[in-house]
Parts: sequence; structure tokens; C-alpha cells
Amino acid sequence: MSTNQPLEQISWSHLGVRHHNGVAINSARVQCHQLGIDTNVELRLHNASRRGIDRSLTPFLPIASAVAWITDRPIYMDGVVNNVALEGAQTSAQLLANAPRLITARRIKPACSRRRARGTGIWFSRGVDSLSALYENFDEIDVLLGLEFIDAPYGNEPQRAIWAETTVAAERVGKPLMHLSTNARTLLDPLAGWDFTHSSVFSSLGLLCAPRLAVAWLSGGHRETTSQFQPSNRNDVQQSWSSSQMAVGQPPGETRRNLKAAIIAGEPVAQEFLRVCWEADRALNCGTCLKCLMTMTNFAFSDQLEPMAARFECDLSLERIASLELAGKGVGSILLLDDMLEEMPPSDLRTAWELARRTFEKSPEELRTTYYL
Ligand SMILES: [Zn+2]
Repeated sequence: MSTNQPLEQISWSHLGVRHHNGVAINSARVQCHQLGIDTNVELRLHNASRRGIDRSLTPFLPIASAVAWITDRPIYMDGVVNNVALEGAQTSAQLLANAPRLITARRIKPACSRRRARGTGIWFSRGVDSLSALYENFDEIDVLLGLEFIDAPYGNEPQRAIWAETTVAAERVGKPLMHLSTNARTLLDPLAGWDFTHSSVFSSLGLLCAPRLAVAWLSGGHRETTSQFQPSNRNDVQQSWSSSQMAVGQPPGETRRNLKAAIIAGEPVAQEFLRVCWEADRALNCGTCLKCLMTMTNFAFSDQLEPMAARFECDLSLERIASLELAGKGVGSILLLDDMLEEMPPSDLRTAWELARRTFEKSPEELRTTYYL
């Protein structure tokens, strides 16, 4: 691209809504020749009619605003969008980028108030964050929201097994599970990692459910006060992705992972279905990777590892922790480790973690003050 060429906007053309094999699909074509982008993004609600989803371009706004942040380009929504969601998309892009981003639309429409739905949904992944938020807000929650990875390159046999188990877990929770999917990562993955984009995807899929829900909650993974790693994890960013018809954002509740673990350890659904390990294609959590060892330590923190032990393939091992090699591991995991260490009283367990922590290149202070995108 020559330097005097004007910066091309990224356009989102609405392709409309279709119904295929019981799945209601809202599609948009995303194009930017300068960036080599020309792809269709689909947001899908399974086992639903066309009337069960938002049929405008509004649900695409959270993803579009994340794209505006990451690419530093104006966005044009070629279709109908909700007025509040459009303003919010600009606000969230500005919060994420710490600089203005322009997002415009062909037609801006206030929502029709009589169609407003009432239910509250929460994203359900069977992880520590998701389960603790569910049990802390249990009586307020009407439905669980589940994202199945069915699109290339993520749709594979292990993912199908994980989804099958999620549906059984939802039955055990006793709340209906809304089944959602999207191919948005085809657009997003070449631009930035899932750590930076996932909350926009969940917010977009939440807005897709506007005819059935008033609220879609996404539990937070990182404490927003301790990190610049993941601005998209901030609740103010996520709340800005709301429309006049429905609210998206984080549920109230505990933010410290040690205490989240204590909240869920007594819950039979957590004891039977906790899923934190993505290292290997197996039924149980491996018990040997960084994520598993940290989660087991989170439970041990409040002396509640025993009821959760059956979800891990092996016992918590101090030797295994002390010999972890963390160089090159994901920043997100190390931030959680630093949070955990900060709260741990002196013990052999803490000493083992301190030994492991020394193998990561950045100090806690450096890690928290670096801007990562
Ligand atoms: Zn593991």
C-alpha cells in the first residue's frame, strides 16, 4: 500500500438471515481490499427459528468494534443497526484503543420497545470463572449460553465430545442451554489472538439472542485492575456492547480465582463436569499442565481439592510444579499465577510455585504494565 493511498474502511454488508437444518443464521460479508479481507461472518443460534434471533446487523457490532480497535480503521456497517449499540461500539473501540475509532452505518434505528425480552443468560463453559459466576447468581439466571466450535480449524471430534458433555452438564444444572456457533475466528484470528477478541465474539452472539434475552453475562477471567494484558476483559468495554434491547457485560461476583474455586468446590455439577484443561484430547483434566496445576492449587488454597480431585488425571505434585518450564507460556496464565501467588501464605506449595515462576522472563510488575496488542 502506497503511503498517499487513503485508508480504506472495513465494510460489513448485511447478507440477511437464513434458516438451515434447524439453525437460524445471521450473515455479513466483511471486506477490506487493502487488508486482503473478504469473508462472510455467520452468527448462529441452533434449534431456533428465524424469529428467534436479531435479524439486523446490530449483533455484528461488538466484533466490528474489536476489529476497529485492532486494525485502526474506520468501519462501515452497510445495513440496519440499533442506535444504542452503534454508539456503544464506538465507545468500546475507543476504550480498547485509547483513541477514537469511527464506526458508521447505512441506517440507524431505535429498538421497538414492545418486543423486549426478559430472560437472563450466562455463558457456560464449565470452567472456574463460568461455574462460580453461575452459582453466585443462580436464581437470577434463566438460561445457559453455550458456544460450540464447529467451524474449521476448531471443529473436530474432541470438540464434539466437549460439547456433548456440556449439554449433559447443563441438564444437571437444570437450566435450558442455548446452542450458539460462529465462524468469526476466520476473520479475527489473522488479526489478533483469541485472548483479545473472544469477549467481542461472546457479546455479538449474546446480542443475536435479543428476541429471547434481556441480559447476556460473560464471566471475567482476569482481574481488570491488575493487568493491561486484556482490555477486552474490562466490564466497561463489554457493557458498551449493549443495545437498547439487551445488556451484555459481566455478572457481579468474586474476581479472585482462589475464591471462585472455593465457591464451586461444593457444587456437584463442578465436581462432575469442571473443564479447565485444553492441552490434550481427553475426558478428564490432565493434572500436569500449567492450567491444571494452577487450578488444583486454587482448590488447595481453601483446602477443597479433595472433592474436585476426581476431575484431574493425577494428584497435585509439588515436584511437577517446581519443574514447570514457563518460558514462552501465555501471558494470561502467568498473570493468573501472579494473582494466585500474591494471596498464598508461605508453604511448600508456594515455594514450588515460586521456583516455577522464576523460569518466566518478565517480572510481575513488568507483566502487568506492558500493553500487549
Ligand atoms: Zn491440563
